[in-house]
Amino acid sequence: MRLLLVEDNARLCELVRRALAAEGFAVDIAQTLRTAEEFLERAPYDLIVLDLGLPDGDGLTLLRTLRGRAEAVPVLVMTARSGLDDRILGLDLGADDYLIKPFATGELAARCRALLRRPGGVLGSMLTAGNLTLDSNTRRATVAGTAIEIPPRELSLLELLLRRSGQVVARANLENGLYAMGEEVSANALEAAVSRLRRRLAAAGAEVTIHTAHGIGYALAPKQPES
Ligand code: CA
Repeated sequence: MRLLLVEDNARLCELVRRALAAEGFAVDIAQTLRTAEEFLERAPYDLIVLDLGLPDGDGLTLLRTLRGRAEAVPVLVMTARSGLDDRILGLDLGADDYLIKPFATGELAARCRALLRRPGGVLGSMLTAGNLTLDSNTRRATVAGTAIEIPPRELSLLELLLRRSGQVVARANLENGLYAMGEEVSANALEAAVSRLRRRLAAAGAEVTIHTAHGIGYALAPKQPES
């Protein structure tokens, strides 16, 4: 899941980025409205977390622009302004949720997951393929009812594949969902993550595996029967 954080306070950015990365989000940080606009033109986002007081203007301007383009991406507004007028204005303009600063990062992560689970959002709660299940709320994966340990990034990869189980998911879509902009990603980072996840699934006795569609992407599908 790829998230754009629009916030000018560097310390808060880092706290939020760390908390959300631990939950498997790829987080891009824009510290100005202008950078946010640029990022939005370059990458698809699943969620935007938006501060209102930014050095080059008001976050509500960005929200108005997004909604003017009929963008369906959910937006969570975080602001130190607790005035009721701002809240009503934000909701009128199409903010999906509000968080008043200061807040606990755990609360922000929970709200982000809740927004993504809404009808039409990208997250449904329980994802299943064969004997493999992933609960996207608790981020626990099980094979035949037994929990398996999967690090956050591989868990996000599994989630992206499970959401389109049986279909080939393009490399670019996987990379967009897994790696934030400017993150050091080696050319074979995705292949390496796929191999590790494939081994984990096999070791746990999963009935599904990750198939390679050469030059296109990857698909989670039943293992080929032994012949
Ligand atoms: Ca600010």
